Amino acid sequence: MSRDIKLLHPEVQAIIPKFLEECKNQGLIVKVTDTLRTKEEQDKLYAQGRTEAGNIVTWVKYPYSNHNWGMAFDICRNDGKGAYNDNDGWFKKVGQVGKKFGLEWGGDWKGTPDKPHFELTKYGNTNTLVKKYGVFENFKKTWVKNEEKSYMFVNRNYSYNNKIKSFNVINENGENYIKVRDLADLLNKNILYDNNTRITIFEDIVENIKVIINNKEHTIKSVNIKGFNFMNARELSNLLGYEVGYNETLQKIYFQLKKSIISKLKFIKGR
Ligand SMILES: [Zn+2]
Repeated sequence: MSRDIKLLHPEVQAIIPKFLEECKNQGLIVKVTDTLRTKEEQDKLYAQGRTEAGNIVTWVKYPYSNHNWGMAFDICRNDGKGAYNDNDGWFKKVGQVGKKFGLEWGGDWKGTPDKPHFELTKYGNTNTLVKKYGVFENFKKTWVKNEEKSYMFVNRNYSYNNKIKSFNVINENGENYIKVRDLADLLNKNILYDNNTRITIFEDIVENIKVIINNKEHTIKSVNIKGFNFMNARELSNLLGYEVGYNETLQKIYFQLKKSIISKLKFIKGR
């Protein structure tokens, strides 16, 4: 059985040091004796006093102890007066401190009180956890998300080129933190991440834009930067009846009417 508090739910982990310190302030020297219990450990403990020697120490089988879900821990006294000596009402005093931190104290349980036991039941009792998550591993996967709760997420609308998008951003001290992916989406950029240089690269997305020339619809490759559409010059010129060339000697790009159009014009002229 483990006494490692790092195996517990992050919120229980956060409570324990504060709880121990407050106990100490009140002259109550507390030691954590038992935290997370695996199935094997719970089964073995359940056997104790039943099929195995010893006193009965648990009333539930796996997974019906909050120890099996990382939500409970047990304590004993560590002041040299006997680990479970309760002649002076020591456990009740510790229980009161635990309750101040939102913990449930096993000493309050009717029928089978468990004075060394504390648990956090804000995610429900074990029946609820079993129904909702099935096994502990599934519940544990949600723990990372709980750490995110320390941030305030808000929805913000962003506009670019008359396009409005709503993103979930972190609001911290009045500043908004947007996902790089969302920002790139808004600005029509592709993002690439170079693992070697650890540089995030924003790239323009080449879009297909529809243009209508002489009542006919065409699609042209285009890049939108700062509200301007930069269309592929060759494609657009071609559609407008021009061809684009490059004059090496003059070092100039030239446009001229397409040969097919020139011959058509000659034909009209000659008629
Ligand atoms: Zn316990």
